[in-house]
Amino acid sequence: MTFVSVAVPVPYLDPLTYNVPGRFPTPPPVGARVRVPLGNRAVTGCVVGAPSSFDGDATPRDLLDIVDEEPFLPPAIVELCAWVAEYYVAGLGDVIGAAMPPGSQRASAYKMQHIVALTDAGISALSPSANTDQQVRLTPRQRSVLETLAAVTAGLPLVALRERGASADVVRRLAARGLVASREEHVERDPFGRTSGMDVTRDGDRSLTGEQQAAVDTLTGILDAGGFRVALLHGVTGSGKTEIYLRLADRVCANGKQVLLMVPEIALTPSVVSLFRSAFGTRVAIQHSGLSDGERHDQWQRIRQGSVDVVVGTRSAVFAPLNNVGLIVVDEEHDTSYKQEEVPRYHGRDVAIVRGQTAGALVVLGSATPSMESYQHALSGKYAHVTLGRRVLDRPLASVRLVNMREEYADAGPDVVISRELAEALQDRLDRREQVLVLLNRRGYATAVFCRQCGDTFECPNCSVSLTVHRAGRGWRGRCHYCDYSMEIPRSCRKCAAPYLEQAGFGTEKVEQQLRDQFPAARISRIDRDSVRRKGALTRLLSTFAAGEIDVLVGTQMIAKGHDFPRVTLVGVISADVGLGLADFRAAERTFQLLTQVAGRAGRGEQLGEAIVQTLYPEHYSIVLACQQDYPAFFEREHAFRRAMRYPPDVAMVSVVVRGRTFDEAMDAAVNIVTALKPAATRARFHLLGPAPAPLGRLRGEHRVQCFLKGTRRAEMRHALKAVLQRMPELRRRVTVDVDPLSML
Ligand code: ADP
Ligand code: ZN
Repeated sequence: MTFVSVAVPVPYLDPLTYNVPGRFPTPPPVGARVRVPLGNRAVTGCVVGAPSSFDGDATPRDLLDIVDEEPFLPPAIVELCAWVAEYYVAGLGDVIGAAMPPGSQRASAYKMQHIVALTDAGISALSPSANTDQQVRLTPRQRSVLETLAAVTAGLPLVALRERGASADVVRRLAARGLVASREEHVERDPFGRTSGMDVTRDGDRSLTGEQQAAVDTLTGILDAGGFRVALLHGVTGSGKTEIYLRLADRVCANGKQVLLMVPEIALTPSVVSLFRSAFGTRVAIQHSGLSDGERHDQWQRIRQGSVDVVVGTRSAVFAPLNNVGLIVVDEEHDTSYKQEEVPRYHGRDVAIVRGQTAGALVVLGSATPSMESYQHALSGKYAHVTLGRRVLDRPLASVRLVNMREEYADAGPDVVISRELAEALQDRLDRREQVLVLLNRRGYATAVFCRQCGDTFECPNCSVSLTVHRAGRGWRGRCHYCDYSMEIPRSCRKCAAPYLEQAGFGTEKVEQQLRDQFPAARISRIDRDSVRRKGALTRLLSTFAAGEIDVLVGTQMIAKGHDFPRVTLVGVISADVGLGLADFRAAERTFQLLTQVAGRAGRGEQLGEAIVQTLYPEHYSIVLACQQDYPAFFEREHAFRRAMRYPPDVAMVSVVVRGRTFDEAMDAAVNIVTALKPAATRARFHLLGPAPAPLGRLRGEHRVQCFLKGTRRAEMRHALKAVLQRMPELRRRVTVDVDPLSML
């Protein structure tokens, strides 16, 4: 009997064992898709290994069908998935699902269509040659296959051949002798068809700045030495990191290897994508969620078949089926969108490093504001450390001015959104026909609404948050940003019928409104998740701005990412404090990154740039040091805090959130888990914190209780947790495990 181990698309489930019935002459290889029975249905799973032994009670069930005779996922990717499942305490089926192109596990799974055709050698093998010495010997079955193929010049699908009685084995032998060849056929859709209007072409002869050249030299040295290495490319905003990626990519491709370039969000980095496109033409594939399923599938197949040298993509591109990666670049490595906040909860950057390690590749992490984790490794020498301290062409960094909003409120009243200083600077830019970015990292019009008379508030019925107020036509809607519940906000109080409801706090919609009121002649637009809901809206807004048809662009952190708009000379930050109030030990790091990045959008052209930052805490170190754009000083200060409080990067954390229909249900389960973990915690010396109500105590109707594992021995923490959860299978689906969590909610 032959058994195989199959990962099935069921949450948290470990691989299952199936028997390969005798009607399949060869067992499916690792990476092939198979149809298997599960309960009373059939699902498409992926073979992840031949089990060494089978000691279950029941005999394994038979698999139903073999979808692929060759691996669909390359075995190296299956191995990477297994690492991810192990490290992030996820089910292997969940990870495999994330690694496959969309739709590949549907019942009607798109089969890789192998078309088999005769080669020239195959044709001459059939033709009776005068010289019998050269006659190729063929078994009757082999001859019959060749004859079948001789009748159809374009070749036949492998399945069709099999229907005519040819076994896969016979075909494989013929292929090995070069008598037949197989190719894969599919219609290709062009994901580049939609132009962004922001196309940038590469200036191939551009000479590098001295710093860029030194960085390229160091990194090429590491490349040429061969083998796995991680390098942190720490370059200030506008220092020309993209050009360095391109030079390295050239070199890697020239050596016959492939490049994986990861970016946080494709729509927010159109220029990086189009630069790579102009440099590598059709040898580039793009992988991201903005493509249709069909497009993604096609791109995936192109990569799988080796027709691609460079893959550009978001976090899931880390699983791209390249088979000879020489370079992995993670651009803006500090960006939180590399972390997947749903199962499997992996960090794209960290998985990229593991992939680089098995592939023996160079991994370049690029950022102006590296994560604490990466910078620490660079300081300790674990990573190579390459620095670009200056902008290209000696353009200065934007100067940053702080506006103390406490003083502003005292002088100009408590309702000020745009300080006088910022308003003046804005007017000045409008007069000079230069462009302005205005950041507020909070969407909506107001953050809450309440009755002044009875104090009634509008909370989400499903989550423990108040509804955010959005403008809706002439009225208002309250919306929950977690579960999307929404309701119309009435004109008078629901409880006491008082005729006036008061709004508190403000978001991007209100900033946009205020700007329109104050600068009626200016062309103003807004970018946040609400304004770019429609497909293509974001690209359109960004290219309109790039074309100079918008004067002022208001937005959330989406406007702070790696954009390169040379005509922006002013960046206004409405409130630097938005993130500081959160109960999250990374609040200061996030604030520093956001301010440094957004200030980095100003002054990238010939004109000098300036940033004006409004804050209630002008003495907070994350704000002061961001204004000075002094990363090393920030790192020192923040690291001292983390060390003192025993937070990452010096210790590792695992977050465990238990959900329940009632608070008690969640709490009881969490107490059980923590109790069961205690012996291991003592043995392996890790700390258990909690259980306690999660900061977001209710989410989508469920109560949430949280606990943390904290310590230096990550593997032991994971193993202990896994063992405990395995003993509580009925609980597993109510528990969310997050290893190296980025969100503390
Ligand atoms: P970063 O990603 O480091 O913020 P970019 O790669 O976006 O910086 O480069 C900033 C700007 O400098 C871009 O407009 C780019 O075209 C330009 N640039 C990069 N290298 C050079 C160079 N050697 N000479 C002139 N301009 C350059
Ligand atoms: Zn809600």
